[in-house]
Amino acid sequence: MSRPTIVVSSVRERLPTGFGDLDCTRLISEYTDILYCVGAQPVILPVTDRPPSELLANTDALVLTGGGDINPALYDQDEDPSVYGIRSDRDTFEAALYHNAIALGLPIFAICRGMQLVNVLRGGTLVQHVEGHWQPADPAKPFHRVEIEAGSLLSAATGEAAEFAVNSYHHQSLGELGHGLKVTARCGEVVEAVESRDADLIAVQWHPELMASTDRLQRALFEDFVQRAANR
Ligand code: MN
Repeated sequence: MSRPTIVVSSVRERLPTGFGDLDCTRLISEYTDILYCVGAQPVILPVTDRPPSELLANTDALVLTGGGDINPALYDQDEDPSVYGIRSDRDTFEAALYHNAIALGLPIFAICRGMQLVNVLRGGTLVQHVEGHWQPADPAKPFHRVEIEAGSLLSAATGEAAEFAVNSYHHQSLGELGHGLKVTARCGEVVEAVESRDADLIAVQWHPELMASTDRLQRALFEDFVQRAANR
């Protein structure tokens, strides 16, 4: 079986280089490591302010990755002082990726910032700052438990567990839910996962890529995603 091609979004950031400070494309390797490991061909796509119309031609699925905050203007709010890392060029580029993937019916796995972006693109809002969801150390270790909605794609992908433990690296959370989304995992009042009634989409607030090498259920999320990509 040939490996499904999976586009992975990336960070565009000003960093020091041998040529001075320049915009660079950056992504932690855990995303592509686990995708290779479970049989996919990952392709990191750099941000451009001129996205071609055929962005996801010859692609089988899309991962929307973690990163800095989404511009609150996209959900009609003023910026809280805690907001960091806004890159409107990334917001716009990932919106184009998302809409392309939806139009093509591709499976989408949206992680952390990716979940927040999907919610905003569907007309939802974010809570701009929450306490208690940024763990002090070791991203491979779980930090809090999440309760899983029975009958969800998330539940099916993770062996129908009623709850499991995840890491936590977010200072924002979903507010008003976007159109067509349903909550599939919670930690108290905080939404930790959603999926869609009208698209092949799993979105999680934690970072499964950082746990996947040591945690069977988090690895299973990637195996399930790549299988759905391969079955298209
Ligand atoms: Mn959390």
